Amino acid sequence: MNIDTLVRDNVKNMSSYSSARDDCKNEFNKNLIYLDANESPFVNGINRYPDNKHTELKKVVSKIKNVSVNQVVFGNGTDEILDLIVRVFCNPNEDKIITLPPTYGMYDVIANTNGVENIEIPLKNDFSIDKNEILKLSSLNAKILFLCSPNNPSGNSFDTNDLTDLIKGFKGIVVVDEAYIDFSSKQSLISLIHENNNLIITQTLSKAYAMAGIRLGMGFSNEKIINYLNKIKPPYNINVLTERKALEELNKIDDIKKNIGLVLNQRKLLISCLDKLDFVKKIHKSDANFLLVKFDNADLRYNQLLEKGIIVRNRSNQPLCQNCLRITIGTKNENNTLIKTLNEL
Ligand SMILES: *Cc1c(COP(=O)(O)O)cnc(C)c1O
Repeated sequence: MNIDTLVRDNVKNMSSYSSARDDCKNEFNKNLIYLDANESPFVNGINRYPDNKHTELKKVVSKIKNVSVNQVVFGNGTDEILDLIVRVFCNPNEDKIITLPPTYGMYDVIANTNGVENIEIPLKNDFSIDKNEILKLSSLNAKILFLCSPNNPSGNSFDTNDLTDLIKGFKGIVVVDEAYIDFSSKQSLISLIHENNNLIITQTLSKAYAMAGIRLGMGFSNEKIINYLNKIKPPYNINVLTERKALEELNKIDDIKKNIGLVLNQRKLLISCLDKLDFVKKIHKSDANFLLVKFDNADLRYNQLLEKGIIVRNRSNQPLCQNCLRITIGTKNENNTLIKTLNEL
C-alpha cells in the first residue's frame, strides 16, 4: 500500500517544529552549557525540557517489544497517539474512520474533535467482527479502521484470522489497539508491522504495567508512519517525570509479570464466584483485566454497589451490553469485598 497517498497533503508538506536542542542530538547528556531554550539555569531535576526524541525510553521499550527504535512513537497516553493518527491521515469534513461498537469511547470522541465522520459497524451478537461488512465499506473514504483487541468493554479478543484478513484486506490504515494484550491468551500482532505497512499497533503503560498515572502510550509501526506521527507530535509531549518513572518501573519487569499473573488468577476466581449468584445472568468471556457481566437489572445493581462504596462501570446503554456492568479485577481483598457485598444483596 502506498502510505504517502493516504497522508493529508498539509501534513506531507509542512515542516515540523524544530526544537532548540535538535542541533545537539547526541550530546544532550554531556556537560554543555545550555543557553538555547530559555530554561531556568537553576538545577532542580526538572528545569530542563525533556528529550523530544525520548531516546533513552525508546531504547528500553523497543528492546522489550522487539522492534527497532525507529518503529516506536510515544504519546501522552494512547489517547494522544490515536489523535495523532487521525490527524495525520484524515482531512476534516472529508475522510472517515470505521469503529466497531461497543468499543473504546475515545475513537468516536477523537473523530468528532477532528471533524471526521465515524462509521460504526457493530460487532456481531457474540462480539465477533463483521469482517465482510467492513471490507465492503473499505472502498469509501474510510481512511482508518480501529480494532480493539482485547476489546473494551466486551473483554474478548478477536479471532486472529479476522484481524489479519482485515489488515491485509482493508484499503487504509488499520490500528489495532492492544491496551489489554498483556492479559490475553492471544499473542500481540506487533510483529506484523514488519510485513504490513498499513498497520499501527498501540499499547499502553496504563493497564498491565500499572502506570496509568504517568500517561504513557506507545505506538508501533513502520518507520514511514512513525515519522509522520513524530512530525506532528507536540515535541515535549512526554515529560521528564514520566520518562524517568517509566524507566524505573520498566526495570522491574518481573514484578509486572507477577502482578499480571495475580490478576489472571483473580479473574478466574471472580468468574466462579459471580457464576453462583442468581442475579448474574451472563459473564462474558474475558481476555482482559475486567469482566463484562450481565445482571438482572444493571442500574439497580450498580446503585446498590455504589451505596456500599464499590464503583463499577455501567455499560448497559452500550450496544449489545444491555444490563451489563464492567468490573475491573482488583486485588484479592477488593474482589472478596465485592463478592461479599454482592452476596448480601
Ligand atoms: C485504557 C485504554 C487505553 C489506554 O489509554 P491511555 O491513554 O494509554 O491510558 C487505550 N485503549 C483502550 C481500549 C483502553 O481501554
